[in-house]
Amino acid sequence: MKTRPCWVEIDTKRLEANFQFLNTLAAPHAELLAIVKANAYGHGLSLCATAAVRAGARWLGVTSVEEGVVARAACPEAHVLVIGGVFPGQGVDVLQHRLTAVVWEPGQLDELETASQAAGAKPNSIPVHLEIDTGMSRQGVDAGGLELALARFRPGSPLKLEGVMTHLFAADEADGRVTETQLARLDKVLGEIGTAGLLPEWLNVGNSAALVAGQAETIADLASRHGLRAMLRPGFALYGLTPDFDPDFQNVPPSVTAARTKLQPVLSWKTRVVSMRTVPAGAVVGYNGTFVATESMRLALIAVGYADGLDRHLGNRFRLLVRGQRAPLAGRISMDQAVLDVTEIPGVNVGDEVVVLGSQGDQTITAFDHATATDTIPWEVFTRIGQRVQRVEV
Ligand SMILES: *Cc1c(COP(=O)(O)O)cnc(C)c1O
Repeated sequence: MKTRPCWVEIDTKRLEANFQFLNTLAAPHAELLAIVKANAYGHGLSLCATAAVRAGARWLGVTSVEEGVVARAACPEAHVLVIGGVFPGQGVDVLQHRLTAVVWEPGQLDELETASQAAGAKPNSIPVHLEIDTGMSRQGVDAGGLELALARFRPGSPLKLEGVMTHLFAADEADGRVTETQLARLDKVLGEIGTAGLLPEWLNVGNSAALVAGQAETIADLASRHGLRAMLRPGFALYGLTPDFDPDFQNVPPSVTAARTKLQPVLSWKTRVVSMRTVPAGAVVGYNGTFVATESMRLALIAVGYADGLDRHLGNRFRLLVRGQRAPLAGRISMDQAVLDVTEIPGVNVGDEVVVLGSQGDQTITAFDHATATDTIPWEVFTRIGQRVQRVEV
């Protein structure tokens, strides 16, 4: 069915090119897992997962088992890593859809063991990646829990320790000391895993910032010292943005400069002018009349509101593109609509395309622009684009 004109265009060719560029930063040291969690950062999970696989990705990373089922349907061959936990009752789906769970809680291991035994799984046949907390205090086994966690992979268990994972939480920081500390902790844990007689295949570490900053080789060295292969997990950069590094970042590596020129934004967000009106000086616009016309003004109503993910804080504070020019948002943003002041832009008419995020003519609005204006990060700008905004492949 045709929807109201508020849509997102996904340039999957750009996503493929981004993956291939990122792969040049990883290869030959490390494999890349394409992060498509949170509906591919709002870009559309199936579209982006298939594009990443076309570009050569063998691994996909999703938030949940639910997302894993969608990724599996789109990509029958890929390894699908579920990074946000397996919840009670989901073990059966993990097995049925051949997902690879990240685990760190005893309850998650229980859930998978029970489901594996019920399915008659052979020993050492159900792969999991064990997450290690190396300092972020978010998810992962801490130093005190390691021995018990490793004991779960006793001979005869259906579970197989296929990977060891951690999350670098400050790879964009200038001095690199946090990352060094995390990798040192990981080194120690890998030693203990070896001592326990376990031989995982993958060391799964590092986001876009780590990859773009040139950490793949360091991570690969650590992995190979313990007989593992390295895997990095870019998300943000896959969607065409280069992470913002700490301004004091020392000796900005050539990979960062290359990323800034090579990575291409994948998503554009668009709407159309729904109706036009001219109001006299003194007219007020929108809820509570926070915008007052200072002269006779031309206003364009557009089909995007905060229920579509346009942050309400942008009312009276941000410009969108129409006819290749920047038009200010006038008044409060409504749930489903907003108003542009197009007094200074001749010829605007019903049906004109309006760019909320992306390019028109020689003008561009980036996710960083939205994020700066609303005091957040581009990741959140993408992920709050509403479910009802149709994702269209271009
Ligand atoms: C989201 C996420 C990533 C990707 O991070 P980006 O900064 O978007 O590249 C990697 N690993 C884990 C565990 C994540 O949660």
